[in-house]
Amino acid sequence: MIPFLDLRRQYAGIADDLEASVLATLRSGQYVLGEPVECFEENFATYCGTRHAVAVSTGTSALQLALLTAGVGPGDEVITVPTTFVATVAAILYCGATPVLVDVDPETLTMDPAQCARAVTPRTKAILPVHFHGRLADMAALDAIAYANRLTLIEDSAQAHGARRDGQRAGSFGAMGCFSFYPGKNLGAAGEGGAVTTNDDGLASRLRALRDWGQLERGVHALRGYNYRMDAIQGAVLGVKLRHLDGWTAARRRIAGHYDAALAPEIRRPATSGPEDHVYHVYAIESEDRDALRRDLTDAGIGTNVHYMRPVHLQPAYADLANGPGSFPVAEAYAARTLSLPIFPELTGPEVEQVAAAVNALSERTHEPRERAIA
Ligand SMILES: *Cc1c(COP(=O)(O)O)cnc(C)c1O
Repeated sequence: MIPFLDLRRQYAGIADDLEASVLATLRSGQYVLGEPVECFEENFATYCGTRHAVAVSTGTSALQLALLTAGVGPGDEVITVPTTFVATVAAILYCGATPVLVDVDPETLTMDPAQCARAVTPRTKAILPVHFHGRLADMAALDAIAYANRLTLIEDSAQAHGARRDGQRAGSFGAMGCFSFYPGKNLGAAGEGGAVTTNDDGLASRLRALRDWGQLERGVHALRGYNYRMDAIQGAVLGVKLRHLDGWTAARRRIAGHYDAALAPEIRRPATSGPEDHVYHVYAIESEDRDALRRDLTDAGIGTNVHYMRPVHLQPAYADLANGPGSFPVAEAYAARTLSLPIFPELTGPEVEQVAAAVNALSERTHEPRERAIA
């Protein structure tokens, strides 16, 4: 049995440090924000190459606060993509603004800059690209559009901790970067967590106020804020895990390279445009008979997943954001074909071999009848 993800293996490797750090926090008597969170914020900002990181309760609250801090509100439009987790779009709606979806580029699976440029209207306030599966979006092109139209560029970096292009890391390209530390993300808490990175002192102090009931100074609620604070225990856990992130990313890249080499050449797999621009939060292949292949792999004892089964505009709760099927052909075709294979730093070489061999054998079998029918 090869699991899609096994966080117990990660825990086993760092248990002593984690337990010491959590125990010290339990004994400290301070359980919300505090020293462990401040320490993590400082180290995470340094890691991302930004002046600030503001720790919050979830990736979703990071997105919502970044949008609010950018001044996004009712009547405003925010351009984003349907190829993402629903939280990206939900955060825009939480601000009372309108998500304007544009399709993704078929090669990168991230926001198509040409379509983004065409979607700008006088109501547009921000652009919110997603570094999908851990691969950086085309930040140079999107930044040019944002600059020309005086829009705020905000990165959904929830899947891309540490992804780097020309020496610059995810979360440092836009005015703000939003991270999730949900346990399964590349850097995960022992529960929920998130952060917003920024180089702007003013944005950082507004973010800090908004996460803590709008207090710019203690006891004075200058803004209508939220309870989006990070727990001290999560700060302690993330502080320990951050030290391992680069090593884990290297392991993910090694596994991705192993899959690239071992999978049959006709199987479509993730593409990159640089050696460091992808951190392989997800390693997804494409298959015409995805559901059958997934069933066969499950029967062979191999865990898989689908990220995501439907693009956001075909989810029932968000169907009013587009005109149904056909609205975004690239996003829709990808969602129908994508299949995520196991990838986590502790996955072993023999396990990768076994998954690749099973995928090769089963996808050949799945494709056989179709090829015969054509012949
Ligand atoms: C996980 C994720 C989020 C939401 O983060 P939470 O911490 O679960 O709130 C947002 N956007 C993307 C792309 C994600 O993968």
